[in-house]
Amino acid sequence: MDLAALIAQMTLEEKAQLCSGSDFWHSQGIERLEIPAVMLTDGPCGLRKQAGASDHLGLNDSVTAISYPTGSCIACSFDRELLKESGEALGEECQAEDVAVLLGPAVNIKRSPLCGRNFEYFSEDPYLSGELAAAYIEGVQSKNVGTSLKHFAANSQEYRRMTSDSVVDERTLREIYLPAFETAVKRGQPWTVMCSYNRLNGEYLSENHRLLTEILRDEWGFEGLVVSDWGAVSDRPRGVAAGMDLEMPGDGRENTQKIIAAVENGSLSEEALDRAVERILKMVYQYVEHRKPNQEFRYERDHEKARKIAAESMVLLKNDGVLPLDKKQKVAFLGAFAKTPRFQGGGSSHVKSYRVTGALEAAKGLQVSYAPGYPLDRMEPDEQLLKEAAALAKEAQCAVLFVGITDAMESEGFDRRDLKMPPCQQKLIEEVSKVQPNTVVVVHCGAPVEMPWLDSVKAVLYAYLGGEAVGEAVADLLFGDKNPCGKLAETFPLRLEDNPSYLYYFGEKDRVEYREGIFVGYRYYDKKQMPVLFPFGHGLSYTSFAYSGLKLSRSAMKDTDELTVSLKVKNTGSRPGKEIVQLYVKDEESVVLRPEKELKGFEKVELAPGEEKEVSFTLGKRAFAFYDIALKDWRVESGAFSILIGKSSRDIQLCGTVQVESTTEVKPVYTINSAMGDVLADPKGRQMLSKALESLSSSMGETDALGSSEMMETMMREMPLRGLNMFTGGAVSLEQLTALLEELNR
Ligand code: BGC
Repeated sequence: MDLAALIAQMTLEEKAQLCSGSDFWHSQGIERLEIPAVMLTDGPCGLRKQAGASDHLGLNDSVTAISYPTGSCIACSFDRELLKESGEALGEECQAEDVAVLLGPAVNIKRSPLCGRNFEYFSEDPYLSGELAAAYIEGVQSKNVGTSLKHFAANSQEYRRMTSDSVVDERTLREIYLPAFETAVKRGQPWTVMCSYNRLNGEYLSENHRLLTEILRDEWGFEGLVVSDWGAVSDRPRGVAAGMDLEMPGDGRENTQKIIAAVENGSLSEEALDRAVERILKMVYQYVEHRKPNQEFRYERDHEKARKIAAESMVLLKNDGVLPLDKKQKVAFLGAFAKTPRFQGGGSSHVKSYRVTGALEAAKGLQVSYAPGYPLDRMEPDEQLLKEAAALAKEAQCAVLFVGITDAMESEGFDRRDLKMPPCQQKLIEEVSKVQPNTVVVVHCGAPVEMPWLDSVKAVLYAYLGGEAVGEAVADLLFGDKNPCGKLAETFPLRLEDNPSYLYYFGEKDRVEYREGIFVGYRYYDKKQMPVLFPFGHGLSYTSFAYSGLKLSRSAMKDTDELTVSLKVKNTGSRPGKEIVQLYVKDEESVVLRPEKELKGFEKVELAPGEEKEVSFTLGKRAFAFYDIALKDWRVESGAFSILIGKSSRDIQLCGTVQVESTTEVKPVYTINSAMGDVLADPKGRQMLSKALESLSSSMGETDALGSSEMMETMMREMPLRGLNMFTGGAVSLEQLTALLEELNR
C-alpha cells in the first residue's frame, strides 16, 4: 500500500478521526478510502476478545481462549525459547480470532511486591524482563500479529495509577525502569508501544515528547506506533505532537475535534498529525495484507502448551526430601484451591478459559483424598473444615496444602496492603503441619507472600498463577513426571518492611518518589547484606548440578571488545533436569554508587543424569556500564570487574576477573571548589599541584599536634582547592590557584 498517496487523499477530519479508536477495541475504518478497521485486544497471558459488551477491567465475558501462566510465572522459566513458543501460539490464536494486535507483553519493573499487577509483570530485574519480552514479541509477530509493549513507563503501582506522578531520577530511569523496553524495542521491534496512565516527573506519558519521541524513536529506533493505555489521554493535541499516535478507546469525537482545531489554529502541525496517521495505517495494512484467514484455534494443542509452560516455570522453593511423591503413597490434597485453583489475575488480562484443571482432577486414579480446609468466600478459619482436613492429613502418608491469596486480594486496579495470606489458609497450614510431618505447600499467588510457617513444612512449590492447566502442571511436578526447573525472577523478602521502596511506595497523594533509586530488588538486599526469605534466582530441582571450568576469553579488554565466558555444568544426580545458569557482573571499584552485582546473562541447559555441557555467554559494553548522567550516555569505568556465575544471586559457584579499559574520554572540569583528592587523582593535577602541596605540608608541620599525618591527609583530600590558600596562610595565592585551574582545564 502506498501510504503517502493514501494520506494525500485524506481530509483533515479523516486524519484526526483515524487517531482514535472507533469503539473499545477497534481502530477507525474509513469507508470512502476503503481503509479497514482492525482489532487490538488483551493480552498478555491469553487472548481476551470481547465480542459483546466491552470494558477494560475484564468484567464482561469474552470468547473462549487459552489462559497461559501469567508474566510472573513464565518469567521464572528464564527461557527465551519458551517465551517465543508461547508467543507463537498466541499469535496463531489472534489470527484465528482476527485480532491484529495483542496487548502485551507487560514489562514494568517490580518495585514493590505490593503492586496489584505484579502477576502480569516479569521481574524486578530489567535485563531478564527485556530478554523475555523480546522473545515473546518475536513469537507473536512471527504470525503477523502485532504486540503492544506496555506500560511505557515507570508505571510500577496501581494505586492512583491514572494520576500518580512517578518521580524518578535519570540514572534510575535509564538503569532500572527503561532497559526492558529498550531491549524489547531494539530486538523485537513491537508493532506498537502502549504509553502508561501515570505521569513521569510531572508530565503524563501520553504527552511525553522526551519518552515517546526522543528516547523511544530517536535513540532506540522504534518504528511502530504508540497507543494510549485505555483512557490515558489527558491533552490530545499535545499527545499527537509528542508522538502518541492512537488514542484508545474511541473518545466520542471530542478529541478528534480538538485535533482539528489545533491544526487549524496552528498549535499542532499537520506534519505531526500525518506522522501519526502514517504509523497507524502502516500497522493496519501490515496486518490485513498478510492476514491468515484459515488459521484455526487449536485449543487442545495450546492447552498442552500452557501445561508445559507452567511446569517449566513453577519454582520449587524448599524440599527436605519429601518430593517427588510416590504415586503409590496415600496423599491428602487439602485446600479448596486443589479443586478450584487460582490460576490467573483480575483485570484486563482475565481470560475466559477453555479448560481449567485443578490438581485434584489431574491426580485422578492415584490414592488422593481431598478436603477443602478453608472457605473460599471468607478470610476467617472454619473450625469444621479445619478438623476435617487435619483428620485426612493424619491418615495419609503425606499432606499437600493448596493455598495462596484470593482474586479479591490481587488484581489490576489496586495494590495489596500486605504480603499476608488469608488467616483461614495460614491456620490450615498450622493445624495440618501439627499432625502430619510430611507436609507440602503449593502456593497460588501472582507475587510473593510472607511465610511465617516455612519451618513447619517440608516442601514448598510456588505455582504462581499457572494458567488454566495449572493443576496438571502441579501434579506433573509433585509426582515427579517432570522435574522442577523454574527459578525466582524476584526476591521474596522476609517481611514487607524489608522492601527498599517500603517507606515511599504509595507516595504522598499523587507524588510518588522513587527514592530507593537503582537499589531495587536484589540490588538492594545484596548491598545491605540482608537476609531474605528466598533470593532472586533461587529454585530447586530433583537432581543436582555441579559447575566447573570457568573460562574468560581474555583477562584484559577495552570496553569496545567482547568477552566470552564459558563454563561446564554437570548433572550429578539421577534424574534428567534443567538448570538455569546465571551470570552476574560486579564492578569492583567505582566513583558512582553501583549494586553489588547485576544479572547480565542466563542460560537454561537440559542435562541427562551424568551429562555435562558447556555453557557460554558473550558480554559487551553494556554489561559493564552505568548510565552517566553528565555524559548522557552509558559509560564503563576502567578497572576490575568480577564475573560471577551462580545457581542463584546468593549462590555463586564460580568467579573470574577481567580488567576493562574505558575508551570514553571524560574530561573533568575543575573549579576552586573541587576536592583536592579529585584533582590529585588526575596525574596532570597532581603534577601541577606539587609545588602548592609543598607549601601546605610545611605549614601543616606546625600543626602536628592536631593528629596523625594519615588523618591530615584524609582531611586534605576532602578539602576544596581554595583551602590551599587559607591553610598555607596565603603562601599559595588565589591568583596562583586560578592560573593553575586554567591550565588544568585547558
Ligand atoms: C490496562 C491495559 C489494557 C487495557 C485494555 C488498561 O486498563 O492498563 O493493560 O491493555 O486496559 O484492556
